[in-house]
Amino acid sequence: QRRNPGETEFHQAVREVFDSLGPVLRKHPQYVDAAVLERMCEPERQIIFRVPWVDDAGQVRINRGFRVEFSSVLGPYKGGLRFHPSVYLGIVKFLGFEQVFKNSLTGMPLGGGKGGSDFDPRGRTDGEVMRFCQSFMTELHRHLGEHTDVPAGDTGVGGREIGYLFGQYKRITNRYESGVLTGKGLTWGGSLVRTEATGYGTVFFAQHMLATRGLELDGRRVIVSGSGNVAVHAIAKAQQLGARVVAFSDSSGYVVDERGVDLELLRQIKELERGRVSDYAERRASARFSTEGSVWQVPAEVALPCATQNEITVEAARSLVSNGVLAVAEGANMPTTPQAVAVLQGAGILFGPGKAANAGGVATSALEMQQNATRDSWTFEYTEERLAVTMADIHDRCVTTAEEYEAPGNYVLGANIAGFTKVADAMIALGVV
Ligand code: NDP
Repeated sequence: QRRNPGETEFHQAVREVFDSLGPVLRKHPQYVDAAVLERMCEPERQIIFRVPWVDDAGQVRINRGFRVEFSSVLGPYKGGLRFHPSVYLGIVKFLGFEQVFKNSLTGMPLGGGKGGSDFDPRGRTDGEVMRFCQSFMTELHRHLGEHTDVPAGDTGVGGREIGYLFGQYKRITNRYESGVLTGKGLTWGGSLVRTEATGYGTVFFAQHMLATRGLELDGRRVIVSGSGNVAVHAIAKAQQLGARVVAFSDSSGYVVDERGVDLELLRQIKELERGRVSDYAERRASARFSTEGSVWQVPAEVALPCATQNEITVEAARSLVSNGVLAVAEGANMPTTPQAVAVLQGAGILFGPGKAANAGGVATSALEMQQNATRDSWTFEYTEERLAVTMADIHDRCVTTAEEYEAPGNYVLGANIAGFTKVADAMIALGVV
């Protein structure tokens, strides 16, 4: 904490991983001898830069850009960019740190990093977003490359932003280097299923967790937080598999729709109109919008937090438990506070941490990179099958690791140890670098 003052979320993410590692360090003292933990907490490189741009009124605006390149022992730095007013170094470092273990868990050759800016795209015109992205990439491009560092989207960075970023990268470098960014559009190097992958993967993970207790997702009541990229596709897949999603949210409140989400209407409002969830409630008779309490008070058997960090507090976890929730799978990064995780696990609820449950997004980014490298494009069915197999593998890796360390059913411990050992072994093999 003295070394990284004020970086609250980063401290939380590190503590969460280290709390799981006691048994592995006792079993493998070589990790301690090689100072693996100390090295893991220090990013290989941190880049902070000015992003000047001009708004539609002609006024000069200044934002701060970040790219934290955490670890490249398993492959090029890989992780998204987040544009949100809350972004500062502590958020980028928590996300980058998590990403290292998540990417390791996918079994793919990916290092970990994360970036972003305190720029708020909400309420900005396309022209303003484009000028911001161009300025951001004008600085960042020198640190990127398909073998060096490969960003993707995250909160506030979707297909539109990736397009503007890629356009500027291509212009500055004079290289059509498709593999330098993932989440691209389908006509210019993108992969089918990438947009859907994080939400779909989270639902697959929840399905596997339920199956360990002989339960199915089909017919279950599901609640989802958020209504962005991850949330919308989690809703889509859950309903496709026979569940009924009865609630979702945004930062202004939540909607309860007992008939189940009308996905077409939600996508029209969120993706085409860039509207709010309250607009959905206005247009659908069975839905109501609320700002009282939180989405976690709506009774459900499966909860999928897909919005932001620390959204499930102890109070929310207690509501979930008293309403009889069976499983919680994190689509967002670190949406459940450590105390809330303890409440859920203490009550015997299946809990899938984000670094396992939401790894489908980055895994499909790796599939996009494979297609770029071979100048190929795969079908939706084939790519979704690859995602499904990857999520099953990640799930099984968590389960067998938790059993090996005598904590059966503890997905947090399983994910942290399985993610950690692969990175730690590679660090030792590569020497003190
Ligand atoms: P989006 O920007 O598409 O959507 C974010 C959603 O969360 C919006 O509906 C937003 O509402 C809502 N939200 C943000 N803050 C709050 C809040 N304080 N309370 C309630 N709702 C809130 O982002 P993504 O869907 O891409 O990302 C969501 C989460 O998933 C993040 O934690 C991200 O790191 C994680 N993730 C994303 C991946 C991806 O592939 N995109 C991969 C792995 C993880 P509003 O519009 O009101 O701000």
